Amino acid sequence: MAFSNYYQILGVSSSASEEEIKAAYRQQVKHYHPDTSSEPDAAARFIELHAAYELLSDAIKRQEYDELYGLGVGGTVVPGTVRAGRRHAIPHYVPAAPVVIQMNPIVYSLAAEEVYTLFRQGVLRGRAPKMESTAYYCHRCQHRWFVFLPPTNSRSAPPPPPPAPTRCAHCQAADWSEFLLLRCRHCSAVFEAEGPLREELPPGRLFFPYTLFPQCPYCQKPHWCMAEELRLGNTQSEPAS
Ligand SMILES: [Zn+2]
Ligand SMILES: [Zn+2]
Repeated sequence: MAFSNYYQILGVSSSASEEEIKAAYRQQVKHYHPDTSSEPDAAARFIELHAAYELLSDAIKRQEYDELYGLGVGGTVVPGTVRAGRRHAIPHYVPAAPVVIQMNPIVYSLAAEEVYTLFRQGVLRGRAPKMESTAYYCHRCQHRWFVFLPPTNSRSAPPPPPPAPTRCAHCQAADWSEFLLLRCRHCSAVFEAEGPLREELPPGRLFFPYTLFPQCPYCQKPHWCMAEELRLGNTQSEPAS
């Protein structure tokens, strides 16, 4: 995904006020107007300026843009409210770069597209990488267990690892290997959904982020997940049946 720094195009800082953005746009547009400008790249600049102003003058689009590229005044991490090892922050996202997220005892290596999803939508579902061939970890109840292999003759080839269990040995969840990584748009915390509702989890289904955490567990703010905002908006606009 191409990245245009709209702040640079307008010649303002990323903390510029609405008025500063408007003033900068007016001034630049006057200078680069294709009908009157003597600049050789006036037409291209004019189009760029218009795109920059259109986005940055819209408060919601601007906020999303800032979040996406780690610009603006958002994106700071609130210190002091972290349970050790259960949180990771991506305050500054580099487009098209993979990220390693360390949350004990699992390390998630996310591809660039996955990081983009997590950053843009605030939610990422998937299957965690296996730690060892016979060690398992339940993303629902945090239970870890091992399947021991029978002893083998050292001269023969090692047997293939046993198939992954269909259910968690502790909570019996069928979707024990699925993870749900969540990211707060306010404080940039990335955290894994973990068992506040483990008794009620229906098998084979993951909860929505707001069902698990109505407020961000780190900064306590509501409306912290973009994908959830979208989903709720769609639900509300559906006609009642
Ligand atoms: Zn479990
Ligand atoms: Zn937060």
